[in-house]
Amino acid sequence: MTQRTSVAMTADTHDALARALLLDGREDVRLATYRPSTGATRRTALVRRLVPPEPGELGFRGNAALTGRYVRRAATLAWADSCGLILAHGHPGEQGWQGVSGADRETEAAYADLAQEITGLPLVGLTLASDQSWTARHWDRDVGATVAENVRVVGDRLVVSWNDDLVPPPRTRRGQARTVASWGERTHRDLTRRAVLVVGAGSVGLDVAVRLAATGVTRIGLMDFDTVEEHNLDRLVGATRVDAWLRRSKVDVVGRLVDLNATAASLRLETSELSVCEPAGLAAALDFDVIFSCVDRPWARAVLNSVAYAHLIPVVDGGIGVDAFSDGNGMRGATWRSHVVRPGRPCLACNGQLNLAAVTADRAGDLDDQRYIAGNGGDQGENVAALSVSAAAGLLAQYVSLTVAPGGLGDPGPLRYVLSTHTLEHVPAHTRPACPVEATIADGDLALALAGAHHAADHRRAARRAAERTWDVRLGRAADDLLHRLHARLLGVAERRLRVGEVAA
Ligand SMILES: [Zn+2]
Ligand SMILES: [Zn+2]
Repeated sequence: MTQRTSVAMTADTHDALARALLLDGREDVRLATYRPSTGATRRTALVRRLVPPEPGELGFRGNAALTGRYVRRAATLAWADSCGLILAHGHPGEQGWQGVSGADRETEAAYADLAQEITGLPLVGLTLASDQSWTARHWDRDVGATVAENVRVVGDRLVVSWNDDLVPPPRTRRGQARTVASWGERTHRDLTRRAVLVVGAGSVGLDVAVRLAATGVTRIGLMDFDTVEEHNLDRLVGATRVDAWLRRSKVDVVGRLVDLNATAASLRLETSELSVCEPAGLAAALDFDVIFSCVDRPWARAVLNSVAYAHLIPVVDGGIGVDAFSDGNGMRGATWRSHVVRPGRPCLACNGQLNLAAVTADRAGDLDDQRYIAGNGGDQGENVAALSVSAAAGLLAQYVSLTVAPGGLGDPGPLRYVLSTHTLEHVPAHTRPACPVEATIADGDLALALAGAHHAADHRRAARRAAERTWDVRLGRAADDLLHRLHARLLGVAERRLRVGEVAA
């Protein structure tokens, strides 16, 4: 059983629960339903809906008010919707992550077996403090309470409540002083704890990942099945001819650059040579708090589009389209877009960034020779390093708005920059209640499975393995690895010489 646990909900669900739990500063209790979202190493309970009590179902105040009748009715409703049960209560007057008092523990333990008996899923306990921070635990039969590592509320900003014991606030280092001064210590400690996955290690993904590392993010994932090739080198800044010769995977090369540029005291870098379209790649993606979509292929973008709603993980997406004259004689223009895909914002299909017919073609492997104009700095279509950095900048700015909310404003909605006139426009795209993707909010593991076998990814990995067995590549890699190890040693020496100290916590 996966022991890392988390809870996620939309800002609307948070507001509804907060109104019920902390009304007039009274402690109150409510039941709600959730769907599981199962990643490779983390289980998340996605809050679906509040089940308001019927007359006579709540007695006194606080947890003591809970009655077996309310629990049985809510659990039966949960079961009918393939959900588990949530027992939520308020802690008026309290701040931050809450310990679980003996009384809370007793109440939750008392109903845990009944809830699991009816729904087949563990009871989830939630506590809301006055400052709107949540605390959560999963109650598995025969295991007891597993305290969550965080609780995420997804709205125009991503608000995360942290369990400091499981995910301690990163120590701020002297080399980060200018960054910390930009948004303050508190925001920095929150931002750098959020696990961020970059899917697609092309030109845009590289820039995004390196800058997240320089910002001090402590947990970064990189996912790409592709190999560095010579025609990537004009945009993959930092990759060299040696990498193309030695058939390095893109995640190896970008991972090396991320490591070199990281400012965190310790960086947890997780690289994966899977596609997010493969079931194991998708499961790995569900372990993260935020995902950058830096892929150019429609299938991968369709998978991430679904994850944003069904699994409540905000996806920062965008792309660049360079429009060259077909006679090869000049550039007509270029456009880059950026948007956060999440409940409350249009999905990629609704904002015109995903052609569903192309998804089918991509899955069938029919897209390999076709140019995909709405690409994202990958190998399809025209693109130049001088402009792809603007696409990366657009994505990162959306991420900062989502995370830091400068001036109290969260993500700005879909944006489009038109190079010919140098204008930044808000794209007039809206959510559609009838959209089949946007209707899957918090569907979790029961969402329509878009992942499957990915032959192109298999083929690229197999070609890389074959190249790795040749003498040419083996000798070259041995020399290259030695140089990188020597450089890493030198960096260690430099660190000691600079006496990089930790700023007192
Ligand atoms: Zn309590
Ligand atoms: Zn949509």
